[in-house]
Amino acid sequence: MNEGLVTVSYIIATILFVLSLGGLSTPETARRGNYYGIAGMALAILATILGPKVDSLWPVIIAMSVGGTIGLYAAYKVQMTEMPELVALMHSLVGLAAVLIGYATYVDSSVELKGVEKAIHEIEIYLGILIGAVTFSGSVIAFGKLSGRISGKPLLLPGRHLLNLAGLLGVIFVAKLFLNVDSGLSGTFLLMIMTGIALAFGIHMVMAIGGADMPVVVSMLNSYSGWAASATGFMFGNDLLIVIGALVGSSGAILSYIMCRAMNRHFLSVIAGGFGTAGGTVVSSGGGPQGEVLPIAAEETAELLRNASKVIIVPGYGMAVAQAQHTVFEITKLLRERKIDVHFAIHPVAGRMPGHMNVLLAEAKVPYDIVAEMDEINHEFPQTDVVMVIGANDIVNPAAQEDPGSPIAGMPVLEVWKAKTSIVMKRSMASGYAGVDNPLFYKENNRMLFGDAKKMLDEVLSVLRSG
Ligand code: NDP
Repeated sequence: MNEGLVTVSYIIATILFVLSLGGLSTPETARRGNYYGIAGMALAILATILGPKVDSLWPVIIAMSVGGTIGLYAAYKVQMTEMPELVALMHSLVGLAAVLIGYATYVDSSVELKGVEKAIHEIEIYLGILIGAVTFSGSVIAFGKLSGRISGKPLLLPGRHLLNLAGLLGVIFVAKLFLNVDSGLSGTFLLMIMTGIALAFGIHMVMAIGGADMPVVVSMLNSYSGWAASATGFMFGNDLLIVIGALVGSSGAILSYIMCRAMNRHFLSVIAGGFGTAGGTVVSSGGGPQGEVLPIAAEETAELLRNASKVIIVPGYGMAVAQAQHTVFEITKLLRERKIDVHFAIHPVAGRMPGHMNVLLAEAKVPYDIVAEMDEINHEFPQTDVVMVIGANDIVNPAAQEDPGSPIAGMPVLEVWKAKTSIVMKRSMASGYAGVDNPLFYKENNRMLFGDAKKMLDEVLSVLRSG
């Protein structure tokens, strides 16, 4: 394939990627968006390996077969609940690739550049390795935190801001030495020092993040992985990689902004860390239990639903764990057949990845027009008879509004306690991801339906069917 044809293919691939991103912005068009993405990537790969820059096809085919097989296997095996970890792991691979390509480009003796061109090339390499290393180590820690291998508790080292500042100054100082040909120091050695600092910074940055801020960090690492790919494109002189990396980088940055808004947080205070404390253990803001909880059984739940005229369902991470989305939809269909108004309320950070609940509900074929975002539906709770909270916790925690001392104070939440009755389905009194106690459970109009969400919903469904 000649250079001209490769360029045309790259332009078409770029258009397909833009269409893909556009498609992925709403659940209705997400499937189409995915197909555009697959087509764009297939075209990009074909044009690259058949283009003039690849002399020998075999190493590429072998590498692609090994990588493709691992990817296919991982994608088939991964449980829906493990998706966020898998995404974090993939981000880490993009970062690692940028680091390795940076070193390979630096030691490549076939590139002979002089003066400004050489300086620009070296800056590209330096930045590529820097962004890649931060993305790599940050994403590995994010993987550990999301999969529960590392505690969600923020690691708040004394003088941590000074440590970060020292790291930044160190990276700038090493860059000066690296670009100064008269420094007499080996470039590879300096790159290794910078890589060490960048890896430590990535680890420190994500370790300092509290549970509740993880959504912002996940989208931020998504953005970094885009910039790392873009930097790789600069090193290779590959326009497509530059553009695609920039698309991923900027869309990840927009997502981080959306997530910050959803949590009512400033980006810089997220990076400074410490919001939300433990992961999965109760950190009671008021100290100790806050009263009695009122349990409810499946039969009574079904009775309440049957007698309601308006029901809102709030899904959370527990619905994903229990894989209860199909049963939820069966119940929804039954209620709607009885002319009961049923809607789903989606919090932007519900679950463990952006859009997590939308994906699950789409999988269960819940119609999009009864799925509402938090801002659209929050004012409807006072007119609602029954709210079913399915495995959600942090996103319905009134402490965010009522307790200024709470670690999640100020985070917008779904105001389910304003409904006539709320029913929370979960297995125990354990806290959610942010590790804070939830006063909702003790409210007079709240009932707790304890048990695995799928099992409890199956029971509710069979009672509804029988009556
Ligand atoms: P939470 O993690 O706050 O709560 C989930 C609840 O589900 C738990 O309290 C748990 O209680 C319950 N649960 C778990 N398994 C089951 C089961 N099988 N059946 C029934 N219940 C179950 O989830 P939310 O969705 O409310 O909030 C999301 C949290 O995750 C927020 O803090 C958010 O910041 C964070 N986060 C979000 C990300 C995103 O991008 N969306 C990324 C990373 C973190 P029990 O053990 O008692 O059953």
